[in-house]
Parts: sequence; C-alpha cells; structure tokens
Amino acid sequence: MINTMQSEIIRLKKENDVCILAHSYQSEDILEVADIVGDSYALAKRAVSVPNKTLLLCGVRFMAETAKLLNPGKRVILSHPDAGCPMAEQFEKNEIEALKTGKYKGYTVVAYVNTTTALKSVADVCVTSSSALKIVNALDSRDILFIPDCNLGSYVAEQCPDKNVALLKGGCPIHAAMRAEDAVRAKALHPDALLLVHPECRKEVLQYADYVGSTAGIMDYAKNSDAKEFIIGTENSIKEHLAFACPDKRFYELSKMMVCHNMKLTTLPDVLACVKGEGGEEITIPEDIAEKAVRCINKMIELGG
Ligand code: 13P
Ligand code: SF4
Repeated sequence: MINTMQSEIIRLKKENDVCILAHSYQSEDILEVADIVGDSYALAKRAVSVPNKTLLLCGVRFMAETAKLLNPGKRVILSHPDAGCPMAEQFEKNEIEALKTGKYKGYTVVAYVNTTTALKSVADVCVTSSSALKIVNALDSRDILFIPDCNLGSYVAEQCPDKNVALLKGGCPIHAAMRAEDAVRAKALHPDALLLVHPECRKEVLQYADYVGSTAGIMDYAKNSDAKEFIIGTENSIKEHLAFACPDKRFYELSKMMVCHNMKLTTLPDVLACVKGEGGEEITIPEDIAEKAVRCINKMIELGG
C-alpha cells in the first residue's frame, strides 16, 4: 500500500516533470515510487530515452553521472550528495594514462561503469556486470586492460579465454570482503538452497556458486528457477526484494555484512525533497571531460545491445 509520503512524491514528480530512476539496491519504498528500476546497465540504457525535463537518480554518483553524460541538456539530480561508490574512485585518471602509454601500450581500456567520469574519459569502452562478457567478446582487440575491479575482471578473463586481460588491484569493498568460508557456512546452513553470486565477489566465493551474474541476472534467475531456496551473494537489499517478488520461495543472505552503506544513504524523505526541487545534488560535468567519457558509454550501449 502506498503511504502518504509516497503519494506526495508521485504527485510532485508528475507536476515537476521528474523521472525517478532507482537502482535495485534502493529500499522497497523508493522502488515503489520509481519510474525505472534496474541494475546499472538497465538504468544507463533506459536513461537515453527518458522524455522528462529532470532525471532523479536514486543510487550512487557514477550512476547519476552516467545519466547526465547521456542527457547533457537535462537536469540530473543525485538523490543524496554523499552517495558515492568507493570503487569508482580507486584510480586517478593520470595513473591510467601512464599505463596506457607505458606498461599496457596498445591495450584496449575497458572500464567498469563503476568509475568516475574522469576515468571514463581515458577508457575505450565501459561495461557493467551484466554486459561485460558480451562487450569484451565483441571487441576487436585481444589485449584488454580491465579497470578497476579485479574480481569482475578475472571472471571476464576466465569466461573470455581468447582475450589477454590485464587487471589492477581494485574492487568493491562489500562484495570483495566475502571469503570462501562465508559460502561454505551459508551452504551448510541452507543445504537445499542454490547460491547466486555477483561477479564482484572473489573467485574463491564464485567457485561455490550455482549461478554467477549481475543484480538483474540474479533476480531473473531466482524468479525463473524451479528451485525454492536461494542464498543471495550480493547486496542484501536484493534478498529483500526477491522475498517480496516471490513469496513462495525462501531467500537467505550470504552474509549479514553485504550492505552497501552508500546505496542506503537515500531515504524516502530525500526523494520527496528532490522532487520538490530542494534536495540531492545537481550533476554538472565539464564539457571537455564529458565529450570523451560519453564515447565509452555510447560504445557500451552499442555493443551491449
Ligand atoms: P549491477 O551492475 O549489477 O547493477 O551492480 C552495480 C553495483 O554497484 C554492484 O555492486
Ligand atoms: Fe560500489 Fe560496491 Fe556499493 Fe556497488 S556495492 S555501489 S560496487 S561499493
């Protein structure tokens, strides 16, 4: 049931011509008022064709920056000014530039979309976890420098054996904190459950997985599977959303520690303030960086289908 604050948000977003895009890690009450819900690939893809004057991105900064790059003429608001993704900032632009002209000269730089706009401006193509395999396979070049997530990168390297994938030491502090023991413990507690894991987790965790995939991949797999019990190896909100979506199935967390505090910063009152035009942060990107960065986002959408 929609509550009073949600009704007010729905009224104001129409009145002020705001489209709300929410990443699936947001809380259920935010997803209920959103126009578009999805993983980071779906949000980027759908952002291209939003007709509204203002896009409100409920998620983390790189998602709002991606939406702005694709909609330079529109107002793009990030739902909470402090909501960043720590992985996005693990490398500086000049470090990657130095690698491109030095150790990895001639390599194609593939940037996980969880990167700053500055990093995207020196990459050749972006990928998300749901599009990475398709895009890397579609690239002409064999030599790939994958930034910044070495866990997603090593999963890509394994699944694309024809490519020579170089990795850096970056990663998600939440997914990469999971260890083999966590998988073993969860499986022992729930022996009949399938383990579904995001590829930002380490290989030592992926080896126990019954399915490896992005946020959307995990959700689709659980919804379409005949199995009745699942251990969810990604941010714990996905376990909650799946429990809502599939009341006849049971969902368990891989670990209580799988909480992205940045994704949790945005609350329903923040969304209300944003649709009133009072909250969040309007995203601005210097034109010279935007021009370079948008090329690799467009290439991602072109190759990702
Ligand atoms: P997805 O690409 O699966 O949406 O993941 C984004 C993210 O930040 C995962 O931690
Ligand atoms: Fe970034 Fe990890 Fe949070 Fe995803 S879960 S937004 S990769 S810190």
